[in-house]
Amino acid sequence: MPPGPNFQSNRTLAVPMTSVTLRCQFCQTWNRVDASRATERPKCGQCGRFLLIDRPFTLFEDTFGRTIAEAEVPVFVDFYADWCGPCKMMAPAVDELAARNAGTALVAKLNTDHAPQTSQSFDIRGIPTVIVFKGGKEVARQSGAMPLAALQQLLDQARATGSDGKRTA
Ligand SMILES: [Zn+2]
Repeated sequence: MPPGPNFQSNRTLAVPMTSVTLRCQFCQTWNRVDASRATERPKCGQCGRFLLIDRPFTLFEDTFGRTIAEAEVPVFVDFYADWCGPCKMMAPAVDELAARNAGTALVAKLNTDHAPQTSQSFDIRGIPTVIVFKGGKEVARQSGAMPLAALQQLLDQARATGSDGKRTA
């Protein structure tokens, strides 16, 4: 089931093709929300607090896999660390990327110091590294700090890539 751009505004579909599964950072409940309604500020069904997806969504070692696997929109992940200067430099661009693409992509961030297993399994050797996933698979990757335009380009390229991933990447 390709999450094609044609489906994004079609609210009549029984099953939205822009849903994402996110764990609430406050009560740890998993929620399935329609990313295309990001601007309406979806709330956690359990505790009622906001699940903010118009800014980088924080992933953790134990939420990364499920979030990536169940998202029907491309997931852009910024692998970073607090001590990393270039990461800090790029952070505002990642924030802006999240705001601009809210509804059509999930922009997320992962602190590599707090998620060594995930970082290792994706062979993250330098940070910042950004990876775009579609259908749970890596379709684009780049290392080093980039300006907003380059981040957007990487995401757009990933969008155009088939959900069978690396073959055309
Ligand atoms: Zn909650």
